Amino acid sequence: MNWGLIGASTIAAQHMIGAIRAQSGHDVTTVLSSSHERGAEYARQNQIGQSTSDLDVLLNDRDIDVVYISTTNEKHFPQAMAAIKAGKHIVCEKPLAMTVADAITMVNAAGSAGVVFATNHHLRNAGSHQKIKQLIEAGKIGDVQSIRIFHAVYLPDNLQGWRINDAAAGGGVIADIVVHDADTVRFHLDEDPSEVVAIEHSGAMGQGVEDSVMSVWTLPSGIMVQAHDSFTHAFAGNGIEVHGTKGSIIARNVMTQSPVGDIELRTQAGVENISFSDHNLYAKSMGLFVNAIVGNGRPSADGVDGVKSLAVATAVKNAALSGVRTAVDYGGI
Ligand code: NDP
Repeated sequence: MNWGLIGASTIAAQHMIGAIRAQSGHDVTTVLSSSHERGAEYARQNQIGQSTSDLDVLLNDRDIDVVYISTTNEKHFPQAMAAIKAGKHIVCEKPLAMTVADAITMVNAAGSAGVVFATNHHLRNAGSHQKIKQLIEAGKIGDVQSIRIFHAVYLPDNLQGWRINDAAAGGGVIADIVVHDADTVRFHLDEDPSEVVAIEHSGAMGQGVEDSVMSVWTLPSGIMVQAHDSFTHAFAGNGIEVHGTKGSIIARNVMTQSPVGDIELRTQAGVENISFSDHNLYAKSMGLFVNAIVGNGRPSADGVDGVKSLAVATAVKNAALSGVRTAVDYGGI
């Protein structure tokens, strides 16, 4: 199948073009950029046959079966709606849209059109997170009581653009990283967060958008989640801890795009280092997606998963702005 890239982005160049080409019989044939010159240069650098600055040209190309949308966040919704109308299967970047209502419209439209729709939440594809989920499900830590997420990182210099200064483009750490935390928690617990409190901060980096946020979430079962997300922490490291009645899982350096990190299982029996698969996260995800297109299984994270991660992030933003404990509104999905 031929893919069109909607957006000449960093994530596509660094991870997704390779992940698509890792699927047998799949290639990227066209890239859309708002700049003709940048698009042509991007195509040349990434061995993509054609570039265009006209979305209709890409969407009217009958040789293109699938699109990957990785533009800035405010463009995802209109571009996805146009791609659905053109009958293309879609992998869309997170956050799916600027509002939960738009994300729901998009996902429902994809369902009605019969196209396969995936949200690019990479972490649930990691060997580390799949192992953590297995440990939880095997009862190794008993009943889960709480999760702590350490996702305060340093935004690389080359990404310090719209993310730190453009609210209209969907900038800010909540839209960027909290969505991934939300998807990861939902993946591990098969449960949706219900209420949140949060405090955000705009420090050394954020200009008109938050660059740091701390939030606490509750789940219907009573499990509590604490999440620390930031663009400004160069040395904090990242990780996730899952604490249960019979043990704890301590995973360091696993909130990343690479198949790295360490997992410790701590129980009364002592501390055990847990090994896990080091497969490529994005290639794994694209494997599930292309299988779903031919009727086998479902994408790793589908449209509903993307709506729900956005709903949690939206509640965190609203709670941070209002200072009020806020219910997560999933819009009925
Ligand atoms: P980039 O800033 O690299 O790309 C976003 C847009 O910015 C591009 O579509 C491009 O516009 C424009 N752009 C990129 N580089 C330049 C440049 N040098 N000069 C001028 N314009 C430029 O963003 P990311 O790749 O970091 O993120 C894109 C999307 O992917 C976001 O929605 C983000 O949330 C998501 N993302 C997801 C990740 C994941 O693991 N799931 C990881 C990283 C990002 P045009 O196409 O018009 O040329």
